[in-house]
Amino acid sequence: MKYSGFSLLKNALQGHRNWPGIVPQKRPKSSYKTIIIGAGGHGLATAHYLARNHNITDVLVIDRGWIGGGNTGRNTTIVRSDYLLNASFELKNFALQLWKSLSQDLNFNLMYSPRGYFDLAHSDGELEDFLSRANAMRLSGAQAEILSCAEIAERIPGIYLGKKARFPISGALFQPDAGVVRHDAVAWGFARSASKAGIDIVQNCAVTGLSVTNSRICEIDTDAGSIECDKVFISAAGTSSHLAQMAGVSVPMELINVQAFVSEPLKPVLDTVVNYNAGLSYLSQSDKGELVMGGATDGYISSARRGSFSSIEDTVTRAIQLFPFISHLRLMRHWSGSADIPMDGNAIVGGTPVDNLFLNCGWGYAGFKATPAVGWTMAELLADGKLPAMLQPFALSRFESGALIDDAGIGPYPWLH
Ligand SMILES: Cc1cc2nc3c(=O)[nH]c(=O)nc-3n(C[C@H](O)[C@H](O)[C@H](O)COP(=O)(O)OP(=O)(O)OC[C@H]3O[C@@H](n4cnc5c(N)ncnc54)[C@H](O)[C@@H]3O)c2cc1C
Repeated sequence: MKYSGFSLLKNALQGHRNWPGIVPQKRPKSSYKTIIIGAGGHGLATAHYLARNHNITDVLVIDRGWIGGGNTGRNTTIVRSDYLLNASFELKNFALQLWKSLSQDLNFNLMYSPRGYFDLAHSDGELEDFLSRANAMRLSGAQAEILSCAEIAERIPGIYLGKKARFPISGALFQPDAGVVRHDAVAWGFARSASKAGIDIVQNCAVTGLSVTNSRICEIDTDAGSIECDKVFISAAGTSSHLAQMAGVSVPMELINVQAFVSEPLKPVLDTVVNYNAGLSYLSQSDKGELVMGGATDGYISSARRGSFSSIEDTVTRAIQLFPFISHLRLMRHWSGSADIPMDGNAIVGGTPVDNLFLNCGWGYAGFKATPAVGWTMAELLADGKLPAMLQPFALSRFESGALIDDAGIGPYPWLH
């Protein structure tokens, strides 16, 4: 349908009653080859790449809420690949390459903004550690720079680098092509593409059970009844372990609340992303002018999406230590999401002991950046049955074999540093 200026006005006056949604409202059919549980970025990206790369469209994406209403629509939109260990680096760097042309690929403006990412170091020891990360990244073809305080001051006006700081800054690891991507556009871009290709997306319909016979899932139970299937892919972030348990699969996972905040809008003051490592606080500025802030997780296990006040206070205090000029700003909104975190802090992606059950979870507060890469590789696994090399380290079986991915510095998670 084409929209003229007149039809836009007419629709607005009619309360958009006749305006078709980007993705049609659907009831599920009685059977599908592949069912993806979770219409977050990861589930929807997998659906998109199943259609685009493998021509597979007999697929249902089902969500108990709305498209992108989970952690995908709650994150602080940072994408980067400044990781030390190959496992973490490769998947996220592959994603970073995909982000660069994804708006064109989806014909949907995702507002990828490669504004750079500063990880601030607070001691010579930490800077040494960053140097190894930068070297590892460069050896693998990524861009990385180690910056002195003078260089930081030149590139980030307004930052406080004085020696009287609670956590003085010694330098930074800078990734120039890291940045931010508009998170809800990502969910809707993938959803529109998958839906146009013929994949069904059903919202507001929870999965309530998984029926296993002879080590295979034959059907799933939902609010809209039972649906038969050949393969099931759980990509439901915080509830993935609960869903996997319905098929008898144990997933070692904890849920921790992570909050994000935005200030009232102000003129352009920050054209990059800054992570204040010791202070566990990070900031960027949105296109609307708001400062977008995140910080440490709440210090206790919880599946509630209510943030504790002490975390808000900590994050904001540290942001002010870094940028004293923001002290007069009012905080406009804050929200939170349930970060799903296994014991080594890294994701679980791949197959399970149940033959046709696949899993993607444990991304905690760091999975948005990996969205297109998870979609691409999981589509390959679901289509061909072969585990792509990039996913091998993320197997669920690592918690039995002991091959954990011990990547300290994967994010502001104090007990992993
Ligand atoms: C405050 C915060 C800030 C963050 N900041 C960043 C960041 O800057 N950069 C970054 O890389 N990552 C960040 N993250 C992490 C990132 O948001 C997540 O790792 C990522 O979005 C996970 O995507 P997903 O598709 O796996 O999960 P989700 O987007 O959570 O999607 C899972 C979906 O499953 C659905 N679901 C659950 N149970 C059922 C059921 N029983 N039946 C049907 N559907 C079900 C949910 O409704 C949900 O829509 C942040 C997270 C939070 C909370």
